[in-house]
Amino acid sequence: MVGRYGADQLTLALLIFSFLLSFVLMWVPVPFLSMISYLPLGYGIFRMFSRNILKRGEENARFLAVWSRVAGWFRRTKQHWADRKVYRFTRCPNCRQKIRLPKGRGKLRVTCPKCRRQFEKKT
Ligand SMILES: [Zn+2]
Repeated sequence: MVGRYGADQLTLALLIFSFLLSFVLMWVPVPFLSMISYLPLGYGIFRMFSRNILKRGEENARFLAVWSRVAGWFRRTKQHWADRKVYRFTRCPNCRQKIRLPKGRGKLRVTCPKCRRQFEKKT
């Protein structure tokens, strides 16, 4: 593997995606459709043996930028669910900024930290 790019996060994601795709397509009764699941697998293998290390690194960086946004959304949603009895999550009616309010305090007068617009919210 000297001079070759090797495996990275995108390769791992491609392998997992290929595995999941082959599992899903197993249940679709169309002949040879499951062959599609070899495409991400083939691309992952191509990337591992590629000599164009710079380009593969750029691909991985782009993938990680997208992935961190997806993972961040899941992390925040999970945290909101865990805090649902203590906090009420709402959005500013003016700028759509997400706002966390303490729960069970009745009607609150809220000032948006982003646009300073004031509005009332029942908590
Ligand atoms: Zn606002």
